[in-house]
Amino acid sequence: MPRAERLRRAAGCALLVIVLAAFAGGLLLYGWRSGFGGSTSNDYIARWRDDPASRPALNTVGGVACPGAPFILPSSGLIGLLWGDPAAPYTLTRRHTGIDIFGAGEPGTVPVYAVYAGWLTRRPEWRSTVIIRHDDPLQPGRTLWSYYTHLASRDGSVDFIAPQFPPGTAEQPVTQGTLLGYQGEFAGAGAPILMHVHLSLVLDDGQGGFLNEALLVNTVDPSPYFGMVLDIGAQPPRPVRCPGA
Ligand SMILES: [Zn+2]
Repeated sequence: MPRAERLRRAAGCALLVIVLAAFAGGLLLYGWRSGFGGSTSNDYIARWRDDPASRPALNTVGGVACPGAPFILPSSGLIGLLWGDPAAPYTLTRRHTGIDIFGAGEPGTVPVYAVYAGWLTRRPEWRSTVIIRHDDPLQPGRTLWSYYTHLASRDGSVDFIAPQFPPGTAEQPVTQGTLLGYQGEFAGAGAPILMHVHLSLVLDDGQGGFLNEALLVNTVDPSPYFGMVLDIGAQPPRPVRCPGA
């Protein structure tokens, strides 16, 4: 075979390999973003992040309850990741344990409210987190906890938690709608995040504390408490809002 022909064939092979690799890489990236579970949550979050003009149409108003629901939504913004969501950085085997609300505005300016009356605790080591113990309004006699996090600046040096709840606060009574603080970007040792508040509803451990909120089995589906479909498995229409809103 002439040298020129050999070179042409080799170049053709290399091009084919590059195209196939790009295609496979694209598939993998798409799969990772959706948690290989078909979640479109990251598409909405990307739109919210990249196109501020899209935000009014994606926003759900916080500080109020859906008709007949016991809990108020803790903050305003895009309800991005849902309960049980496998979208990145979560996976099918490590699903998101609550809801993420991405607010419009600068860190430290979008308020976060107590979803229901209860008793607030902030452990001494908690920079960006509070938790509230509640009498469960849907299962009388049961204790349920609402856990809020990311209420601090990107590097964690400034917390956005209301000053009446300093580190070490224990079992301080709060009413529904009490201002807890403001949305932030702090994710502990994790990668920097887009500003939001994370909220989980966590089961009681039966000994005055709460179970590990990072495990889905220790949390409950927030849908009935907020009167809107927040379970990714139920594939709610996006943006998630009160029925008929
Ligand atoms: Zn979250």
